[in-house]
Amino acid sequence: MFFKDVIGHEEIKQRLITSLQTGRISHAQLFSGDTGAGSLALALAFTQYLFCTGDKHEDACGVCPECKKMQKLIHPDLHFVFPVVKSAKIKTPISDEYINEWRSLLLKSLYIDMEEWLGAMGADENAQALIYTEESGNILRKLNLKSFESDYKVMIIWLPEKMKTECSNKLLKILEEPYPNTLFLLVTEHAEEIITTILSRTQRIKVPPLTQENIAKQLVLQKHLVRDSADQVAHVASGSWLRALRMLNETDESVYNQEKFVQMMRLCWERKMLPVNEFVNELASLGREKQKSFLMHCIRMLRENFVRNFGIEKIVYMTEREKTFSTRFSPYVHEGNIIPLFDEFERAYSDIIRNGNGKIIFTDLCIKVMQNIRP
Ligand SMILES: [Zn+2]
Repeated sequence: MFFKDVIGHEEIKQRLITSLQTGRISHAQLFSGDTGAGSLALALAFTQYLFCTGDKHEDACGVCPECKKMQKLIHPDLHFVFPVVKSAKIKTPISDEYINEWRSLLLKSLYIDMEEWLGAMGADENAQALIYTEESGNILRKLNLKSFESDYKVMIIWLPEKMKTECSNKLLKILEEPYPNTLFLLVTEHAEEIITTILSRTQRIKVPPLTQENIAKQLVLQKHLVRDSADQVAHVASGSWLRALRMLNETDESVYNQEKFVQMMRLCWERKMLPVNEFVNELASLGREKQKSFLMHCIRMLRENFVRNFGIEKIVYMTEREKTFSTRFSPYVHEGNIIPLFDEFERAYSDIIRNGNGKIIFTDLCIKVMQNIRP
């Protein structure tokens, strides 16, 4: 986990390095931004730099014993807290029970998100991963351990917004009375969902989306793309390295989502209720995560088609496959219907999250699309 493995963010890296060199490290820091842009990667690289006892200037040395342990994520002074799922075997799960899955996922890539993490835990796609109340006891126990080898103990909390209230309250107490030489690195995607009392006790490090240039360069370097294609992918990836990687191997899921989006728009245009009904049955039979992913895809496609309809190609983020359909479809997404369409898809999305009945939600949605796409 070196700074050099983290794409872009040179200014943040420099700030972190300087904070250690000048001995002005805040005991609780909040890395806030899209994990696809590298917030977790930054926290990990900073931790290795902190632990490194070798010759370090702009990056950890990579050869000292501390670095060796960090590179396998088995440093005894590094502790992780992250959302986990309940299973038949584990009723009150804590992070430690999934530490092997966590390590092997991160050793493959420092750019992860909830979708990948659920997959790595072997979780049902409908599962909700949370940081449960039981975790707080575990956090306290770890903080009371003496640090083994380093001057510092580091606790990385990934997605603190997924913390149950009871656990947040205990964490707050801990943050109020900092433990000596203990560093909390919180990595969030939705800072606005964290309780404000915790927010106010952390130093915020905003991790912005990556620049198109950052991503394109990395694609050329690491994936050996020619510059033209790298630029195209980087453009659509809009700031997320994770998204860029996913586009490279356009996943089965994204192809499926686009297929269904096309089908939905055609069926609604034709207003044939029987095929619409069959289509709704298919969507309703998908797992909740797949339904959410489909709806997110639709919302993105509506946005892109609307923008394209305005002729602003430069800010249209579509793959070649998506563009093909969009050529004929985009004129039908305009000022007259974009807001109601957004509203309907967003409502469907939040109803799905609340465990609503898929058949009813998707039937209603199709009817609303019919009314709006061809009044
Ligand atoms: Zn080192």
